[in-house]
Amino acid sequence: MKGIKLIETAFRDAHQSLLATRMRTEDMLPIAEQMDDIGYFSLEAWGGATFDTCIRYLNEDPWERLTSLKEYVKKTPIQMLLRGQNLVGYKHYPDDIVKKFVEKSYSNGVDIFRIFDALNDLRNMKYSIKVAKDQGAHVQGVISYTISPYHTIDKFVEIAKELESYECDSVAIKDMAGLISPSKTYDLIKALKEETDLMVNLHCHCTSGMTTMSYYAACVAGVDLLDTAISPLSGGTSQPPTESIVAALQDTEYDTKLNLKSLNLIKKYFEELKEKYSSLLDPLAETVDTDVLIYQIPGGMLSNLVSQLKEQNALDRYEDVLLEMPRVREEMGYPPLVTPTSQIVGIQAVMNVLGGERYKMVSNEVKDYFRGAYGKSPAEVDPEIYKKIIGDEEPITCRHADLLDPQYENYKKEGEKLGIIHKDEDILTYALYPAIAPKFLKGELEAEPLEPPIDESESIANLEAIPTEFNVGVDGDTFNVKVMPTGYADIEESENAPSGPVEGGIESSIQGMVLKIKVKPGDSVNPGDVVAVIEAMKMENNIEAEEAGTVENIFVSEGDAVNNGDILMIIK
Ligand code: MN
Repeated sequence: MKGIKLIETAFRDAHQSLLATRMRTEDMLPIAEQMDDIGYFSLEAWGGATFDTCIRYLNEDPWERLTSLKEYVKKTPIQMLLRGQNLVGYKHYPDDIVKKFVEKSYSNGVDIFRIFDALNDLRNMKYSIKVAKDQGAHVQGVISYTISPYHTIDKFVEIAKELESYECDSVAIKDMAGLISPSKTYDLIKALKEETDLMVNLHCHCTSGMTTMSYYAACVAGVDLLDTAISPLSGGTSQPPTESIVAALQDTEYDTKLNLKSLNLIKKYFEELKEKYSSLLDPLAETVDTDVLIYQIPGGMLSNLVSQLKEQNALDRYEDVLLEMPRVREEMGYPPLVTPTSQIVGIQAVMNVLGGERYKMVSNEVKDYFRGAYGKSPAEVDPEIYKKIIGDEEPITCRHADLLDPQYENYKKEGEKLGIIHKDEDILTYALYPAIAPKFLKGELEAEPLEPPIDESESIANLEAIPTEFNVGVDGDTFNVKVMPTGYADIEESENAPSGPVEGGIESSIQGMVLKIKVKPGDSVNPGDVVAVIEAMKMENNIEAEEAGTVENIFVSEGDAVNNGDILMIIK
């Protein structure tokens, strides 16, 4: 009897996938002890987006969530998702911060570290794996699964062997979009079991509808661990339902031996809890979306794209963007689409479609990607596009974090000066999220109420569903009138920005917010100088001077919203 063990994702991935990561600790603790009694392999309960959400929206200390859970969960290991050198953020941190973060995660209660890199660049995982191993933790190395000519079974096995050489205890196949078919699952898991001595874990989302079949194929191929979510928080963009998998495998050699009656009590708890969070539940997230089979784009990313296109008033270009996405991904060397590469690829596709010319508009994140600042792309990036957006500059070929200076002591000093450090963990919270952590650590953040509005971009996206822009005729003249709610004064359009061709006028190439103005009137600029940075769709875009001249007039301020074509300033 082999027996399969289950990882329950209710406290991390399931609510990240279905409830915008908003489950509060107070809603986890009442059921934690009962979940501890079930006999799961582990409870995934920390990391991923939960850290960010705690300090941005919930006014909760993520470290305290961990220690509180640990008081109730005494038998079952607690598992976290760690984004390699990105930890629980979106960029690479220097090694001293990685070390402290992993050490503190372990000492506060993480028993199992699941460590991944969006590009499967093992240089971005090796150090956190080592530190976690040094603590005595179970370390699970991850293969970020995707489909491309480059991502063959042999390639994945090669990655797993490397992870084994780092002394990982298990390997997880992380299939963010539920793309893996039953036969691919079988072949991959069979190969991993034959070629390595690692325990093998399959982690899938139900987006494509194939997942429960793939889970069974995984069992037949010899998988050791499967990720599931208690049924009220399962399906759609989340994991397959725990109870169904338990029942499906009962009385077979894969029997999990978990008790369905005990699981049913847990189900009842989450069923009621789901009501409390119903305002956050997007019905689309709960359904199967077979578009993913054609475009290979995860479900969450599709709904993201729709809201971002609405923001740009360009929902009619949705199909074009879907077709552009695989092309961009190929030119970027087939990155798996997971945080942060999903957003980077998706937004570049949007910009290529809306910009009228491919790679005319390129965010700073995309330039960093091409430069190699996120690591090595799986296949080579397109050399012509590299030249177009980077020029003759040599790419980074070393491990990117080797170029980063230690920062922990600086953050410690700075944080102490600000009076926001009450324990060592606060230094890490500050180092990872220097822009938002101070407000939280000062105790000035108010927990978001459970009813919407949720956040600026989401609220605007929702507002776009009802018309907010009208053409109004007055005495034969047509005026374009936009209606904005009063709470949005801070992102209202700049009244000063003219639009249309103006001699020497520097136009915004995209609708977004003025993040930085880098010049002042009287400054002289050269062609290619960055004069402003516009944030659009969470990406930063440089606005450059096209010709040499002197800055005459600046029409916008930092924080202003601008439309595509608005004149930001005049350079003569
Ligand atoms: Mn996941």
